[in-house]
Amino acid sequence: MTRRILILGGTTEARELAGALAGFDVTLSLAGRTAAPARQPVPVRVGGFGGVAGLAEHLRTERIGLLVDATHPYAATISAHAAEAAALAGVALLVLRRPAWRRAEGDDWIEVADVAAAVAALGEAPRRIFLALGRQELAGFAAAPQHDYLIRSVDPVEPKLGVPCATYLLGRGPFDAGAERAMLEAHRIERIVCKNSGGAATYGKIVAARELGLRVVMLARPVLPEVPSVGSAAAAREWVGHWAARRGV
Ligand code: NAP
Repeated sequence: MTRRILILGGTTEARELAGALAGFDVTLSLAGRTAAPARQPVPVRVGGFGGVAGLAEHLRTERIGLLVDATHPYAATISAHAAEAAALAGVALLVLRRPAWRRAEGDDWIEVADVAAAVAALGEAPRRIFLALGRQELAGFAAAPQHDYLIRSVDPVEPKLGVPCATYLLGRGPFDAGAERAMLEAHRIERIVCKNSGGAATYGKIVAARELGLRVVMLARPVLPEVPSVGSAAAAREWVGHWAARRGV
């Protein structure tokens, strides 16, 4: 048994947990999607493992004692791989996943299963739409070219969305509610399409939508493996402390 911990990251919580695990031998893993990822407090490895078998092999050869899946709630493939690979390699697994946002009074949300359903929910009439989605999900909106889209991403979107009217903004959270409201008003946005990411960093647009009376089309969270999980970096730090004490590492 070792004090080596591998954190699957790409989230604020993963970075927070990594910074809180002094005394452990921690590596943080990133998929490598963003060109200039945020600075991390521990050594980082970048890129996929090559599926379940590759991740299980990595856990064995790197003598990892604990795998923490702190990926984004919508990163369903890597979370499924983490559960399978940890079981295969006989390594302990903890999931750190932000709780979903709950509807508050004044919220006008419709939850949809996927991008195709989000496109349908926007309706036929042309509208001004803010797409707060990852680059992977954008392509589906080419099926509704009548809308005027505002698209915000960390890295430039390439290729551009195949529609006549789209404006691109670059930005990395956190985004506060006041600035989000000003942006939505400046672009005269009528609908928002987003994920139920949870956490504070991207909640500003939800508050702003509530204040402005805008409808939010919310992509449902994917179904994820049933494994021990916590909802914050602080809770994960505590869990790791108990884990280490139990294992005597
Ligand atoms: P995904 O669809 O669940 O994973 C696709 C593949 O990417 C995985 O099979 C794995 O490749 C590789 N991968 C994903 N996360 C990895 C990690 N942390 N370290 C090493 N390899 C990783 O993932 P995704 O939705 O594209 O998300 C990619 C990354 O962006 C994740 O780290 C996630 O936390 C972060 N992120 C995602 C979202 C989102 O909305 N999906 C939002 C914010 C941040 P192999 O099979 O080759 O191992």
